[in-house]
Amino acid sequence: MTSSEAFPVIGSPSSLLIHRLLDRSSAWAPSRRIVYRDLFSCTYPEFRTRVHQLAAALTRLGVRQGDRIGVLDWDSHRYLECFFAIPMIGAVLHTINTRLAPDQILYTIDHAGDRFLLCHPDFLPVINPLKERMPAVEGVVLLPDEPPTTPCAWPALGNYEELLARESAPFAFPEFDEQTPATLFYTTGTTGDPKGVFFSHRQIVVHSLAAGLALTSNPEPVPLRADDTYLPLTPMFHVHAWGVPYIATLLGLGQVYPGRFEASTCLRLIRTHQVTFSHCVPTLLQMLLHHPDAQGFDWSRFKVIIGGAALPRGLASLAMKQGMRVMAGYGMSETCPIVSLAQVKPEDAALSVDDHLDILTRAGFPIPLAEAALVDAEDRPVDPRSGIAGELVLRAPWLTPGYFRDPERSRQLWRTGWLHTGDIAVIDPAGYLRITDRLKDVIKISGEWISSLELENALSQHPAVREVAVIGLPDPKWDERPHAEVVLKEGFTPAPTAKDLHHFLRTFVDRGLIHKRAILTEVHFVPSIPKTSVGKVNKRAMRQDLGTTHPKPA
Ligand code: AMP
Repeated sequence: MTSSEAFPVIGSPSSLLIHRLLDRSSAWAPSRRIVYRDLFSCTYPEFRTRVHQLAAALTRLGVRQGDRIGVLDWDSHRYLECFFAIPMIGAVLHTINTRLAPDQILYTIDHAGDRFLLCHPDFLPVINPLKERMPAVEGVVLLPDEPPTTPCAWPALGNYEELLARESAPFAFPEFDEQTPATLFYTTGTTGDPKGVFFSHRQIVVHSLAAGLALTSNPEPVPLRADDTYLPLTPMFHVHAWGVPYIATLLGLGQVYPGRFEASTCLRLIRTHQVTFSHCVPTLLQMLLHHPDAQGFDWSRFKVIIGGAALPRGLASLAMKQGMRVMAGYGMSETCPIVSLAQVKPEDAALSVDDHLDILTRAGFPIPLAEAALVDAEDRPVDPRSGIAGELVLRAPWLTPGYFRDPERSRQLWRTGWLHTGDIAVIDPAGYLRITDRLKDVIKISGEWISSLELENALSQHPAVREVAVIGLPDPKWDERPHAEVVLKEGFTPAPTAKDLHHFLRTFVDRGLIHKRAILTEVHFVPSIPKTSVGKVNKRAMRQDLGTTHPKPA
């Protein structure tokens, strides 16, 4: 018997298209709702109809397979509809980072070659003046919450709701190769132009399945359940809100979209809609916990994944004391993004709260199908059992295959056949990743490398510290010296002095918890710490503010 007789290829199994993440929830959770502020709400079957109508409307406008379609919107149900409809007709969803400077927004739209833009009128003042410099953009669909007052510089293609209202469902979605690009967005590196990162249908689907499986299969400390209600605190342009809207839709969760980010609005929506699940960068959690409206807030049903930067132990412990369930996750734009989650293994469920804190503030255990390894400065493998730190390199079916229109940086990213993260890490004996620093943020003292994250983690545990960031500044004697900027909690008495915090840091050195050179740290109190467009600590801006050109490798 030949092989083709033994394994006849007669059936045609369905391919991994984003389409297939949409349909299930209409039957599984027909009455669960997708809500946008106080302005809009629909059920899953209604949502599905709207995705079909949007696909029909875009097709009528002339959108073809392979076209890039840029979206500039606040976090909304419309954005979620674009997450589905644009790739499902074979076009590529370009989620534009609206917090970039206008010239960088122009760069990304131009580099992506966007044919059409879907734009909230709030962003017209940004893009209108750039019209002549965006020759590829043929037209703009407006996404207004109320009748727009600013005129649009492009030919009017109509308002989103009007375009949808003209169409009827169902739309016959085409079948195509699952490797077709589905999404594109730009990372804002600290040096050079933004880099375009893209993912195929297959990658989005497999990422959703793997991350969804990890989250739903493990109860500690952040279990995702079918009856959860989700609100993204991360902007939807940032790595498509970490891919979680796809997972939430697949599982049929309640979904609440907060529009323009305002902590008070998010808190109100969390309370009103009994939101139970979210994700964000540490600074945002910080902001929510300290917001005046959060006094007396009941966080006992709220679960949150913290990523994009290390979760400081002090912040995790504060969140837990308020009843929240919290854990770190690790990833980057290039990785779709979820690679690991700091979940507690079932065999460790009975450990103490302190041990759990230790686990959930690590960068996590690789989720199913993700592999992590370490390499040294010459890209030679580092044995994780040695306990030596190395650059973290990754493999998983959902990592970006390269940078859009940038073969040189793509080759560099994948130079060993693994994706190079630029993060320094150790993999501990239990298999958890610990990110010790970004290659460019590590502090070099007398030839020894000190982790800025380690120092931040220690200082974050002082009860008066609200936020802390540490950078290395040039020093004639030591090469570099740690410079800590600390924001104190308002009204904390007695307010510590810099000397007190220095003494506090020394107790970690004395206990052998951090490097002895940590005592060289200079502590400075500041009213606030600069942030990037996605709310992470901006160490490059800190260096610039201090007037140092101290260069760090990208
Ligand atoms: P981005 O591409 O803007 O999402 O940034 C990705 C970078 O954020 C990573 O390369 C890490 O340096 C950092 N990062 C993300 N998650 C963590 C984590 N759990 N711990 C430490 N650093 C993290």
